[in-house]
Amino acid sequence: MLESRIRWATASVVAGLVVAVAFLRPAASAGDGAAPPGRPRLVVLISIDQFRADYVTRYADLFTSTARADEPRGFRYLMERGAWYSDAHHDHYPLFTGPGHAVLVTGAQPAASGIVGNEWGDRATGERIYCVRDDASPIVGGGGMGISPKSLRVSTVGDELKIATGGRAKVWALSFKDRAAVLMGGHLADGAVWLDAKEGRWVSSRWYCRDGKLPAWAEAAQPRTAWTAAKWETDVPADALSRVWLPKNQYLRDAFALGPTFPHPLGPGPAAQKRDEYVKAYSATPLGNKFVLDAATALIDAESLGRDDVPDFLAINLSSNDYLGHAFGPDSPEVLAMTVETDRCLADFMDETVRRVPGGWSAVTFVVSSDHGVAPIPEAMKDAGFDAGRYDERALEDEIAAALGARVKADPPPGAPAWTVRVVEQNVYLDRARLSGSADEAAEIAADVLRSTPGIAAAFTRSDIVHGRLPPTDAAVRVAKGFDPRVSGDVVFVSEPFWLPLEAKYATSHGTPYAYDTSVPIFFAGCGVREPGRYRGRVSTLDIAATLADELGVLQPSGCEGRCLPHAGR
Ligand SMILES: [Zn+2]
Repeated sequence: MLESRIRWATASVVAGLVVAVAFLRPAASAGDGAAPPGRPRLVVLISIDQFRADYVTRYADLFTSTARADEPRGFRYLMERGAWYSDAHHDHYPLFTGPGHAVLVTGAQPAASGIVGNEWGDRATGERIYCVRDDASPIVGGGGMGISPKSLRVSTVGDELKIATGGRAKVWALSFKDRAAVLMGGHLADGAVWLDAKEGRWVSSRWYCRDGKLPAWAEAAQPRTAWTAAKWETDVPADALSRVWLPKNQYLRDAFALGPTFPHPLGPGPAAQKRDEYVKAYSATPLGNKFVLDAATALIDAESLGRDDVPDFLAINLSSNDYLGHAFGPDSPEVLAMTVETDRCLADFMDETVRRVPGGWSAVTFVVSSDHGVAPIPEAMKDAGFDAGRYDERALEDEIAAALGARVKADPPPGAPAWTVRVVEQNVYLDRARLSGSADEAAEIAADVLRSTPGIAAAFTRSDIVHGRLPPTDAAVRVAKGFDPRVSGDVVFVSEPFWLPLEAKYATSHGTPYAYDTSVPIFFAGCGVREPGRYRGRVSTLDIAATLADELGVLQPSGCEGRCLPHAGR
């Protein structure tokens, strides 16, 4: 009976009716502690930052518990007992952490969510605006710019769960990165907690902590005393480490001073080293993931997540995979070891979580995915004979300004900052106050400069994007999905494959529309998976939010364009 009522509620949600709320009231407690059939007590969404779909297939033989195939854990559990979508992609552009996390919980393209990049340009000043900056929401527990989800224009799965349960569902988000925690937590989360990387402390903001105090569990989990490791050693066997394409790390850009080989020192120790350098090095290793997941377990305990029949939602971002990947690249021994060690951390965390929730695996839904992939290191591809390299964004700004020539007035308007052209995350902003003539013509001139630049495949003007004058290419479709006229640039450009912006800090990055950046795994496991197995059909990361809304029996988030994934069965 309950089963059919849930299905009816689901069908009604699809029809656009908000009826699901009636079914989220706590049922009479089931004697065995089992959750109502088909509905989780707790949803845990884990985004592994910069985690490409191929990592789980390339290194599958190294994951935990291969010795006991009848009891898979970690990724093997997700691959064998869960629903594994091995051809899942993000559909927007550009591929960065802010937009990627917003997509996972909203099912909305950046054009609708407003989170079109980690940063975008300020039309008046040319300055960069951070995607979760909010001066009205000062940091609690630390310093720096205020942070909140106010730029996110759509609701999240957690927001809809809060609304549907009259606020009784508990919604939390945890990450080293503020943008990942805040965008996955949404507007109505009980809390989003992230790391102040300078101080090495968990912090939040006044948006969540209205009384100016951190949650007690976060204060208790402060890393100051816990971070004592002096090095990252791995027990992944040397012959496994040597099977990658670039075993010698000859293209390493050692942004975290980890050195080129195992064991990787984290410096002389937190006492003898500048704290922020130690925190950065530590955060770029699997030690960082373990630290986040231990804090997540403390959060589950302290906030009693998953204990009653009102579903709760916990979103976690494992940022360490991204930090390490930027420095070493996807084909390094370190990223292999990081993937294998992430598997072990995940296995332990999933075990700990199901142990804490009445009903265990039948009452917890785990979702594992990623905000974006990563490009192979351009210099490595170039040496291998590909057309690969780096374009210089600062030089592009100068070239575009020069091409605009006499259209640029000599002086900025009185009191205005002097700028003409800014490139921010593949968006070109022109200072319209300083340009004479038509803005459309100026954008065309800028686009022509870009189109004749080596390493740049295409450039689309704001006018072409807004009016839909785009070629039917994958890149152009993605550009439109990632364009918000209120904050996006006058021109959006797309690099050739294996080309990245010039910068000295990292060996590689992400942001392009190509498979290495868009291809991420999607796993669902535990409650709600009626037909486990590998699903090879192409799906979108937008589908995660639609599927979770269906499973929770709540309205889809306001901008959701995704579809329910098929593992729930008929
Ligand atoms: Zn990221």
